[in-house]
Amino acid sequence: MAFVSFLSRRLYLKFLVSYLLLGVVVACLGVYILGYLAALGRGVDQLLHDDLPLHMEAGRCLQLARAEESLAKKSLVTGDPAFIKRTDEVGQQLVAALTALAANLPEGEWRRAMATAEEAHRGLWQRQGDHATLKVHRVDELGATFNIVSDLLNAVRDGLQERMEARLQESDRAVRHTFHMGLLGWVVAMGVGGLLAYWTARHVTGPLHEIRTATRRWAQGELTYQVTMERDDEIGDLARSANQMARRLAELDALKEEFLANCSHELKTPLTSLREANALMLEGAAGPTSDGQRKLLEISRHELDRMQRRTAQILDLSRIRAGQMGYHFRTVPVDALLHRSIQGTDLLAARQGIEIVPPDFPDATVHGDEERLCQVFTNLIANAVKFNRPGGRVWFEVERHDDGETPAVDIAVCDSGIGIPEAELGRIFERFERGHADASLPGTGLGLAIARFIVEDHGGELRVASTPDHGSRFVARIPSTTEGAAHA
Ligand code: ADP
Repeated sequence: MAFVSFLSRRLYLKFLVSYLLLGVVVACLGVYILGYLAALGRGVDQLLHDDLPLHMEAGRCLQLARAEESLAKKSLVTGDPAFIKRTDEVGQQLVAALTALAANLPEGEWRRAMATAEEAHRGLWQRQGDHATLKVHRVDELGATFNIVSDLLNAVRDGLQERMEARLQESDRAVRHTFHMGLLGWVVAMGVGGLLAYWTARHVTGPLHEIRTATRRWAQGELTYQVTMERDDEIGDLARSANQMARRLAELDALKEEFLANCSHELKTPLTSLREANALMLEGAAGPTSDGQRKLLEISRHELDRMQRRTAQILDLSRIRAGQMGYHFRTVPVDALLHRSIQGTDLLAARQGIEIVPPDFPDATVHGDEERLCQVFTNLIANAVKFNRPGGRVWFEVERHDDGETPAVDIAVCDSGIGIPEAELGRIFERFERGHADASLPGTGLGLAIARFIVEDHGGELRVASTPDHGSRFVARIPSTTEGAAHA
């Protein structure tokens, strides 16, 4: 038990033990198969070096016996001494071959058979010094003796033949057994390997996938998300550390929000006073002003307006994030909403030679907070003008969606402007993210983030499609009934 709990805490030990197990299985099978192959090698060796040469030697003896028999018969018939001499020479070769064969045969029946053959052969000849004569004078007697010698040699040769066949069959069985064991080994190794792969996928890849999902959600700003994982090993440690990091990031994020909100709040009143004072001075309430002074006052009014807008945006963002926006939902006619949102931007657009095609959607309505929705479309229209070119156009498209769970209306703000590069599309809705326009055009990078939050608080979504150099299309899907709204 202690070992198992130790293992569960060490991932690398789990791997080590599993792969060792696989290694041991494969090694055992390998040793077993090698044993069989060694036995097979020994069998083939015996066949080639023992049985086959003996078999060939027995064959040679048989040939010599047949040659001697034929010569002996001719000697008997002719009585020619030259023939008898030649027969004796062959006979001596046969005796030498029989002796060598008997010496190499194993002790037992075969060796005794060769001794008997030698004995029978010896009975044929009478020797005085170098002179040898045939003891037998009848052909049939001669034939009978050679029959005995041939029968004995044939018996030994057949025996050797059978032994070779038995060895070959044995080798064949060994080869087949080795093949089957190899196959079994492959199946076992594949099975254990498959189990290991499954285990790795379940215990390592799965949890890593979970952590990757969490990091993606954190990257999208969902810092409250936590990885749920009850593990004691390194992956569990990683998940705990990652969770801790996310909590810390959430704390820092909250601190940053609070700081920004406090700063904006603190700036709001003095900015309003400054704006008022500036306006009074421009109206001449503090006495007459020179042209130069008026110019400076205009510039400071412009900058004060900008600062007021920014602080208002930061405050809006913190309110939305804290869920304190306080929406007032009601039915809003789309046509009126878009006309209201154009106001303020139309003059700027006209100055820049950009046409805003007036909206004409008398029947469409959405359910939402008119002020906040106006803020969304004002921002989208302002961007469509800001990121446009002289001679460009801005227009609207409205489409009802009654087929989904919540009936909704798609309101699209389209422009023929500079478009957005694909790489930037994913992040323009993030806070403080500014795209290609960064340096040259004014902006904070907060407008789209606020617009998206407001639309999402309405239970809708804000999407964009864009082609660089051709234009962009921002679509806000807003529910047309009460059901979708988060803060109704
Ligand atoms: P800002 O306009 O203050 O820079 P936004 O959040 O409104 O911030 O927009 C973020 C970025 O998205 C912009 O800086 C710009 O690069 C890109 N963008 C938004 N609307 C458009 C548009 N209609 N055409 C091209 N780019 C756009």
